[in-house]
Amino acid sequence: MSMPTIRHVRAFTVRGGGADYHDQAAGHWIDDHIATPMSKYPEYRESRQSFGLNVLGTLVVEIEASDGTVGFSVTTGGEIGCWIVEKHLARFLEGAKVTDIEKLWDQMYNATLFYGRKGIVLNTISGVDLALWDLLAKVRKEPVHALLGGPVRDELSFYATGARPDLAKEMGFIGGKMPLHHSPAEREAGLRKNLDMLADMRSKVGDDFWLMLDCWMSLDVEYATRLATAARNESGLKWIEEALPPDDYWGYAELRRNVPRGMLVTTGEHEATRWGFRLLLEMECCDILQPDVGWCGGITELIKISSMADARGKLMVPHGSSVYSYHFVITRHNSPFAEFLMMSPKADEVVPMFNPQLLDEPVPVNGRMKASALDAPGFGVRLNPDIGLHRPYPR
Ligand SMILES: [Mg+2]
Repeated sequence: MSMPTIRHVRAFTVRGGGADYHDQAAGHWIDDHIATPMSKYPEYRESRQSFGLNVLGTLVVEIEASDGTVGFSVTTGGEIGCWIVEKHLARFLEGAKVTDIEKLWDQMYNATLFYGRKGIVLNTISGVDLALWDLLAKVRKEPVHALLGGPVRDELSFYATGARPDLAKEMGFIGGKMPLHHSPAEREAGLRKNLDMLADMRSKVGDDFWLMLDCWMSLDVEYATRLATAARNESGLKWIEEALPPDDYWGYAELRRNVPRGMLVTTGEHEATRWGFRLLLEMECCDILQPDVGWCGGITELIKISSMADARGKLMVPHGSSVYSYHFVITRHNSPFAEFLMMSPKADEVVPMFNPQLLDEPVPVNGRMKASALDAPGFGVRLNPDIGLHRPYPR
């Protein structure tokens, strides 16, 4: 079988939700007084958009092959991501075979080492990598999960991230993860409010439903230890997520030693590459790794991260990222469930996570998704032609 080559690469940006899921209109739960590392500044405490959480926008990468097949992806990256794709990465892609995924990852990563390694550059490499997997799977007329070894179970089960775990329980999810609202800057009164919110939710969902707290890098070890201990004792908190800034590997190791036995420490959504996750594993920072496949280096890197976790008996449950996670999670034993971000403004109904950018995006039904919902070629989604793409650096 002669494989097509890559003819052209295009990068677009688009505003308004989708892969940059923080880019929402006012009044959305995802921007309602959520604790962050910026909460120490009162003027940036009420809204994450106020300090620029939505400045990037979505990056759309399209890769067209010589046989006319087009693979694409969406991730967070916006105009900077477009610049990196068109001005730098396109040279490696155009002319390569559609099967050259591993080599292309290596070239993109090593060619950007002098200004990359993490953050926006890895978001961008992830976007290109996801588009390459989409393209190859479409050329082969198979779903991406088939290229990854095939499903190991008949369906995915999901926990829901959002402000209303009580409603998530009614919708069939296995657990609910709430954002933390009050940072250490709000002192003892804030800590009490955090614990009271959790206790109130526990009283609504009963004893057996998983409840988790997402702290979005906002705490220090001392506060996180007190919060985790009290939340475990008062409300049976299952895990404390991303309690500390991602560079504080030492703090995570200490927190993990400090939390009550049986409670889980999770992190990784702002970590990248096999080397970043190797640090989290070797320093015993957490119990569940949570890479975002659109940020950590794409599917090509997620394979490596997942394997390292598996060899150490750790779970790898990716952060958000919709179909790009689902096609991986369904193929791995150490990814026994998946995350679903509740993107309706009040977290009161299931809507597609990357709405409105993707068409045919599957969503959980009763908290579950059949493997057969992922059987279309590629990642099984189409780019919505009505979203108003902008190509800032055309070639
Ligand atoms: Mg999180």
